[in-house]
Amino acid sequence: MYHLNENLKRSAHNFPDRPAYVFQGESTTYAELDQQVEFLAASLAKRGIGKGDAVALLVDNRPHFVSAYYAILRVGAAVVPMNPIYTPREIGYILSNSKAKAVIALSALEPVLSELKDQLSDLELLIYTEVAGDALTVDQLIQEQETEYDEPERDENDLAVILYTSGTTGQPKGAMLSHKNMDSNAEAMGTLFELEPDDRMVAVLPMFHVFCMTVCLNGPIRSGATILIVQRFHPVEVVNVLRDQKASCFAGVPTMYNYMLQLPTATRADFATIRVCCSGGASMPVELLHKFEEKYGVKIMEGYGLSEAAPATAFNPIRGTRKPGSVGIDLPGVINKVIDPEGNEVPRGEVGELVVFGPNVMLGYLGLPEETNAALRNGWLHTGDLARMDEEGYVYIVDRKKDMILVDGYNVYPREVEEVLYQHPAIIEAAVIGIPDEVHGEAVKAFVALKEIAVSQEDIVAFCTDKLAKYKIPRQVEFVAELPKNSTGKILRRSLRN
Ligand code: AMP
Repeated sequence: MYHLNENLKRSAHNFPDRPAYVFQGESTTYAELDQQVEFLAASLAKRGIGKGDAVALLVDNRPHFVSAYYAILRVGAAVVPMNPIYTPREIGYILSNSKAKAVIALSALEPVLSELKDQLSDLELLIYTEVAGDALTVDQLIQEQETEYDEPERDENDLAVILYTSGTTGQPKGAMLSHKNMDSNAEAMGTLFELEPDDRMVAVLPMFHVFCMTVCLNGPIRSGATILIVQRFHPVEVVNVLRDQKASCFAGVPTMYNYMLQLPTATRADFATIRVCCSGGASMPVELLHKFEEKYGVKIMEGYGLSEAAPATAFNPIRGTRKPGSVGIDLPGVINKVIDPEGNEVPRGEVGELVVFGPNVMLGYLGLPEETNAALRNGWLHTGDLARMDEEGYVYIVDRKKDMILVDGYNVYPREVEEVLYQHPAIIEAAVIGIPDEVHGEAVKAFVALKEIAVSQEDIVAFCTDKLAKYKIPRQVEFVAELPKNSTGKILRRSLRN
């Protein structure tokens, strides 16, 4: 049976003295983590939290995230992870929509949450990571050393996590993911990366995001490996952790690899213990992949996923063929297919929508039957991403359907133009959007961040000329110090459009 909580118990039983995580140089063993989770779960149960409840988690990367996450699961409740920097309005919406009964949050959020509690009838319990007035703290609950509670019956189809995904229009939707969804994906990723108890995985992606939750938290815990918790991404600090903590696995989004690549002082020696790096969440420019691998002597495996699939659906294998520019092949147990608008599979090499089937595909969106029916058809998750598949089953993400630009009726995929821009020696980061154009419908506009090298719009256009068809060449180039990114580090084309 797939069950996240059973995984922690098993690892605590099999490897009690191994470090479950290291934070700021301090290790906590599996036996210690399991004990904390047990006390915290019993305290939550004593306060009425149990099966069928939702508990919001508004905590950044730190040990409290790990213990709270597993304690919520242990009492049979569902975790509603949220970015702690959300605005009061966003937090209020998600708490209300998920009918959260309790919140475990950073103490800085106390004023916001106290006010929201008065407005939300379902919300009964507020717990903080540090002291906030006379409110309860996580450590107090652990120190109660409560052990008496009835463990709920476990079913792998129980709801484990409700992940709110930022809808492009309207309010965010809560993707409901079961223990089976989450754990089967952690298992598949662990198999693919041959995760072993002596692996040391860096967790610097935000734990409230599903990429980190599956790859850097649930995956290592089910394997008895060690999580190296890094609170926030700072390239120098991350490289220090890799080296000093002898990390063996690293997971990041492409912008993280880009920042680390630009570090003048980092060398191959810093990456000496790294066995595998994985990239996902956004497309990895091929130029960046090659430069990073050449500089640091490591291999980056790119994969693809989305919240609704817990998240991974395809990955490049560490054994066998790795294809740069591709997100790899079906994850064990998962099927990826490229279809036309009528739902038929397109011939290999042709572009269509990527749809996915497998044990990782979500149960649906909370309280939204219409959206659920649009996203899940006969069990196939419609991703909204355009892709093609080669003869060997390797998937290439072309772009998001809604990011496609139409110039004189021709499709331009931002990614294709960005790949060329990344080849320019002066360009650090690039993103492309469509802007309205009276004559051509839309035109291509590029935003670029430069190294300290003087370059003009004309230089960049000239650079693209022999690499792209005329209609794909940026009509406008705007120079920016840095591109806008979300908390995971994904470049936000949406903000550029605004
Ligand atoms: P989220 O649900 O926030 O994890 O975002 C999922 C979306 O990220 C997908 O639908 C894709 O558009 C994008 N994405 C994830 N991985 C990749 C990748 N390797 N290449 C291109 N796009 C990706």
